[in-house]
Amino acid sequence: MSSVSPVSALPLALDAPWLAPQIEQLRRARAAHRFPTGLLIHDERGAGGEALARFAAQLALCREPQAPCGRCRDCRMFAAAQHPDFIELHPIEDSKYIRVEQVRELTEQLVLTAHGGGATVALISPADSMNANAANALLKSLEEPRAGVTLVLVSATPSRMPATILSRCLRLRIASPAQAISVAWLTRVRGDGPWATVLEVLGDAPFEALDVDAAALAQLKAETDRSLSDALGGRMDIAATAERWARSETLGLRLACLETWITARIDDAVGAQRQSSELRSSTHLPESASDMNIAVLLRLLEGIYELRRLRLTSINRSLALEQLLWQLPRAGQRGGARGGIDR
Ligand SMILES: [Zn+2]
Repeated sequence: MSSVSPVSALPLALDAPWLAPQIEQLRRARAAHRFPTGLLIHDERGAGGEALARFAAQLALCREPQAPCGRCRDCRMFAAAQHPDFIELHPIEDSKYIRVEQVRELTEQLVLTAHGGGATVALISPADSMNANAANALLKSLEEPRAGVTLVLVSATPSRMPATILSRCLRLRIASPAQAISVAWLTRVRGDGPWATVLEVLGDAPFEALDVDAAALAQLKAETDRSLSDALGGRMDIAATAERWARSETLGLRLACLETWITARIDDAVGAQRQSSELRSSTHLPESASDMNIAVLLRLLEGIYELRRLRLTSINRSLALEQLLWQLPRAGQRGGARGGIDR
């Protein structure tokens, strides 16, 4: 089933103002016939590394003077994910790694002449998910490339990649845009919505925000915030809530909401503590430095990281979440000196 949407065949990256300098650099390289064989896009999560990689690929594949033109056969095939000389490599399904077999298959294709007689582009993302063998297998394509081959690597943590690969790539760095810029861009691309709230939950990751239902996420956040305030006051049915959250398809986003809430409480508590130490010399020592126990909050945050990282079965997820939620009432008890009720 290949439904080609009627949207423009121009790359999405062109719309993102924070990618403009990198786009300009790539255009200049092409105009000077110095398009790199190896391109490493060093991005931050959700900042648009893959979108820029697709722009670079289309720029290399389109043969019009004003590339990427969005109208030619190359551009149309590329936009429809049908270009025979564009190859993508990602970890397969649930695997965390790009396997050596995948890279070998790619390198075999790269030595062949392009189907369309033009450029051949391979996009590898996240490139740091290649293990040592896979990276080694790729090295030859970077060292002795066939003319017209471009390898575009995308990684948020290139430090995990071998120096032999890194030294053969032109590196383009993308930093996450300021929230106001992301909100303006999302509003333009996706229409009005609670984008600031979405970014608060997802972090400064506008390209990740692009795929979420903003209204639904804002609602999920509001509901989570309410539940957590209830939990602090001991008004949450913890077992039932943990089970409901763990079973839901929105668990990943729910955990992001939890993380946002806890991080905000830590910020508040640290801010209050700082304020109180500044006032310590005064006669009016505030009654409470903070209403929240920072140590418990930090442990909770760690637990959530863990839960987000692990792929657990649904039963384990529910139990792990329940254990975390049981700590919440204790987070509401100030200081470490006072013993909490241990569960
Ligand atoms: Zn074109």
